[in-house]
Amino acid sequence: VIGLTAAVCLAESGFGVRLISDRRPLKTASANSGAIWGPFLSALEPRVREWSFETYTEFERLARRGVKSVQMLPGTFAAHDGLDIPSWVKQLPGAVECRRDALPEGYVSGYRYVSPVVDMPAYLGYLRRRLASRGTHLEIAHVTSLAERAFPEELIVNCTGLGSIALAADHNLSHSRGFLVVVDNPGLEEFFSERGDGPNLVNILPQGDKIVLGGTVDAAEDLEPDEAVLQAIVDRCAAIFPELLTSPRRGYRAGLRPCRTTVRFGCEQLDGHDVIHSYGHGGSGVSVSWGAGRAVASLAAELRR
Ligand SMILES: Cc1cc2nc3c(=O)[nH]c(=O)nc-3n(C[C@H](O)[C@H](O)[C@H](O)COP(=O)(O)OP(=O)(O)OC[C@H]3O[C@@H](n4cnc5c(N)ncnc54)[C@H](O)[C@@H]3O)c2cc1C
Repeated sequence: VIGLTAAVCLAESGFGVRLISDRRPLKTASANSGAIWGPFLSALEPRVREWSFETYTEFERLARRGVKSVQMLPGTFAAHDGLDIPSWVKQLPGAVECRRDALPEGYVSGYRYVSPVVDMPAYLGYLRRRLASRGTHLEIAHVTSLAERAFPEELIVNCTGLGSIALAADHNLSHSRGFLVVVDNPGLEEFFSERGDGPNLVNILPQGDKIVLGGTVDAAEDLEPDEAVLQAIVDRCAAIFPELLTSPRRGYRAGLRPCRTTVRFGCEQLDGHDVIHSYGHGGSGVSVSWGAGRAVASLAAELRR
């Protein structure tokens, strides 16, 4: 999502763009994310905050324009202990604190707001079509060196997520594994998220006739799911909406979040080429994608001035 969005921003700013990826979009971490807007497993530094709000506004615009994979949904964020409304939520239109008696059993604090919820497999298809309308099509190839095959006048943009451990020799990157479960939507129209600091999260994300349930966070790498882990995700979510327990399961999602102390964004010179890096967005890559993509396009324009 980081690379495709940056490619759209570059192409729509007048750059000719070649898009290279060693995986098909549906096989990436991005396709396997939930996805709800908000900071998670990513330092909320000023530029990330700014990119998040730019992205919120862009998702709002896409939803208004009828892009079906993006919806603006009302919902609740709740906790089992005291929770202050974070400043990033206070900035959103309509954010309100919940009365305790309006929360599901066991929760003591929470707030309501409207959030973008994105159907990622479909949304990546939308980005690809938007890029194709500018003449850019995805080339499947593995890149072993950032300056490889590029002409000196070309600018390279590196949005390879965890691929940058090898490609940019970046050992500040590490993965955080996550599983989600997809079931038929029994008719829910609001999202629900629980504040999660541990390995087990609660995220209920309606997306039309399906609903994505989350999730997990751990340091393992194997993407083969354990049935007990998937069932535990459903059980946690069904504790809030019991109808989820009997919703037919459609499948699961598994991915590795590209985590880094801070996002890497900026330009370096490599073998005579300008290389713009944009990776390490943790559990918030979708949430910052438009801000990060536009930052790439602005930096590219500055470098070419
Ligand atoms: C279970 C789960 C739930 C999540 N939920 C949310 C959420 O609700 N909200 C949110 O904002 N974020 C969420 N995330 C995080 C989000 O998915 C990531 O931050 C985001 O996908 C990172 O995007 P990316 O484009 O950097 O990485 P990726 O999607 O991994 O894309 C990297 C691309 O680089 C390519 N590549 C890598 N190395 C090479 C190479 N050497 N040569 C050629 N190509 C290469 C890959 O093929 C791929 O196309 C979630 C993640 C997971 C796993």
